[in-house]
Amino acid sequence: MTETDTYKDKGARKLLVKELREKGIQDEQVLQAILKVPRHHFIHKDFRWHAYQDKAFPIGEGQTISQPYTVAYQTQLLHIEPNDKILEIGTGSGYQAAILMEMGAKLFSIERQEKLYLKTKKLLTKLGYTGTFILGDGSEGHKEGAPYDKIIVTAGAPKIPTSLLEQLKIGGILIIPVGDNKEQVMHTLIKKMDGSIENIALEKFRFVPLIGNQAW
Ligand code: SAM
Repeated sequence: MTETDTYKDKGARKLLVKELREKGIQDEQVLQAILKVPRHHFIHKDFRWHAYQDKAFPIGEGQTISQPYTVAYQTQLLHIEPNDKILEIGTGSGYQAAILMEMGAKLFSIERQEKLYLKTKKLLTKLGYTGTFILGDGSEGHKEGAPYDKIIVTAGAPKIPTSLLEQLKIGGILIIPVGDNKEQVMHTLIKKMDGSIENIALEKFRFVPLIGNQAW
């Protein structure tokens, strides 16, 4: 990993943002965060010069850093407001976490793989991001920080975990990909004033599986 952020990197981020706009990402706040966060710090040095391609890459432990389009798509759906308390399930490389914190979120992020948790916590701290990083099964949420304004799941779930809906505030939003091991549909769930849930199904994606008590 390199600690530098060169003109070449900054230029590549501008081109990535242009590409994401062309693919339909419109939220300026999200695009500004992508422009700022040095994605090359979050991937293995072997992929250093591919960091600003709109692609997922391996991050070890059989896991991946999500494609920038996917990160932008999910983040856009969260409609982040400054100081929103957000729970991210699947810290992985920490890139999505950095985007959320760059946008002013008060972040709780949970990862089940100890090696990734330790490595990413160290990296995010070194880069100056101050969130709460947790090792555990995020399919059950994280009761200690609840209730949350927003919850984002960055792995594919077989169903919507009820504990995540319970840990959402009234008016809160849960973004989660749901499906089988080949393909998942992105869902936005909104907790209404009367506690009922509005569930909107959106585009199809392909994620690594969410593994846990309320998952695979
Ligand atoms: N947000 C990540 C990023 O920016 O790199 C995406 C990482 S990857 C697509 C999904 C991550 O979810 C993996 O690191 C995986 O270990 C983690 N994961 C899977 N099931 C989990 C669970 N029940 N609780 C917490 N993390 C989980």
